[in-house]
Amino acid sequence: MSVSGTGTYEPGNIFARILRGEIPCNKVFENDYVFAFHDISPKAPVHVLIIPKKPYVSFIDFSKTASAEEIAAIMQATGHIAASLDLEEGGYRVITNAGHNAGQEVPHFHLHLMGGKALPAFPG
Ligand code: IMP
Repeated sequence: MSVSGTGTYEPGNIFARILRGEIPCNKVFENDYVFAFHDISPKAPVHVLIIPKKPYVSFIDFSKTASAEEIAAIMQATGHIAASLDLEEGGYRVITNAGHNAGQEVPHFHLHLMGGKALPAFPG
């Protein structure tokens, strides 16, 4: 179990269920550390969620607890996916929501990769 300022990891959350294969998703990438799939309610023409396979609640939890290999892997995977979806020329955004103030809905650390249109001015 991971514990952070955003709470104790809840193994029934929807991304944990996707990782266990209990519910379907539209997968775009997978390796030993990372899994990525299209957001079910996309906010841009490309909207991919990139998650660690291990159970971290938030950015702080991940940054404190994950191995250097896992941290490198999610950064490398995100760049690889952005390039493979042809986002480099037009531009893209990578964000994470953590906890109540950011409106985090799913308590499994994830990066949102968005692109394919002019995105709203930061913070979006
Ligand atoms: P958060 O607000 O940063 O936690 O983002 C959670 C994201 O998960 C939202 O953009 C949702 O649309 C997305 N989402 C929720 N359930 C599913 C699902 O079953 N498949 C894919 N994306 C999902």
